[in-house]
Amino acid sequence: MCTVESLRVLELYSGIGGMHYALKESGIPGQVVAAIDINTTTNQIYRHNFPDTPLWNKTIEGIPLDDFNKLSFDVILMSPPCQPFTRIGLQGDIHDLRTKSFLYILDVLPRLHRLPRFILLENVKGFESSSARNILVKTLMECGYTFQEIMVSPTSVGIPNSRLRYFLTAKLATDNLSTQTKISDAHLHPSEYDSSEPPTDLNPTSTCQPEEDLQGDHVLYKLETATDVQRKMIQNNNLSVRQIQDFLEPQMEANFLLPPKTLLRYALLLDIVQPSSRRSVCFTKGYGRYVEGTGSVLTNCMETEMELAFTHLDQCSEEEKLKRLMKLKLRYFTPREVANLMGFPQSFCFPEQISTRQQYKALGNSLNVVLVTKLLQTLLS
Ligand code: SAH
Repeated sequence: MCTVESLRVLELYSGIGGMHYALKESGIPGQVVAAIDINTTTNQIYRHNFPDTPLWNKTIEGIPLDDFNKLSFDVILMSPPCQPFTRIGLQGDIHDLRTKSFLYILDVLPRLHRLPRFILLENVKGFESSSARNILVKTLMECGYTFQEIMVSPTSVGIPNSRLRYFLTAKLATDNLSTQTKISDAHLHPSEYDSSEPPTDLNPTSTCQPEEDLQGDHVLYKLETATDVQRKMIQNNNLSVRQIQDFLEPQMEANFLLPPKTLLRYALLLDIVQPSSRRSVCFTKGYGRYVEGTGSVLTNCMETEMELAFTHLDQCSEEEKLKRLMKLKLRYFTPREVANLMGFPQSFCFPEQISTRQQYKALGNSLNVVLVTKLLQTLLS
């Protein structure tokens, strides 16, 4: 530990407080001196769970330098909006209005009375090759930070959920004049580098986007190719990753079953997992609302029963189709289960007035707490 004193932490784009939970779970003494976000729904959730933390419902770019100075923080934890950097978000990068607040932070940073000693930033895959990232790196170097970038998914820490994300950790060099920060946690297998080259993709099979088309690959059933099946099999056989069943709530089948309309229309696009599986795809903000690429669904049926249900399904009458699919009792993961997979502790909960849809949305925008906990432990200790 660098210090026994409690670190003063500024949590920007705080959402539902994924960063705050990671800080708590890390065991490193620290207090969030301000959390800042403009989303009133996530702010309600944040306040419900952290009633004593000052939460500013303000746009970051509207906060004057002096207000930041007054906070006198040692650490910045932040997850800037990721839409400008995703393929689906058209990659507007620094020209996207949603990047404005981030550029403002980079403008403020060098002008602070006292530079924070540590910075952790989380973003989507795509950020690593953005101009925003290049400006960030340039700013950090000019301010005298050493930094590390990695692309990593929760599967690396034994969690059966893919959520490949970009992380940057930075340390003010005066803390340790001569050495480059090294993330040494063997579980994370980070791509370490100290040049201005962006990191390489460590985990290319577990992106958060809908699976890539594998051209020329033969479709077996459920629109799955042999490569898809093989990849899933490898994932399910990876004993260093826990099973889905460890993250489930008992007796949830009835309430979260997929409705017949969804089954009929989207059955072939579902990513189906079982309690014994050691994989699931990334849960995004549209989970429970849109089907394709938004997250896995669950069945208790065996692989053989699934195969039976799906074989030549397209040749069945609507009635037969539905009969077969209903047998699988496919259901959504509950928000609690998604929170479990994302590493939120049991103490985390939603206020009553937040709808299920809002819960999925808030979780989909958040981060994996276990992963960030490990990164913080390495950065701050
Ligand atoms: N890490 C967070 C999620 C971050 S998602 C969590 O654990 O939940 C990005 C967040 O940035 C969203 O909640 C969004 O409301 C907020 N945001 C986007 N632009 C903002 C701005 N200009 N000022 C303040 N907050 C902003």
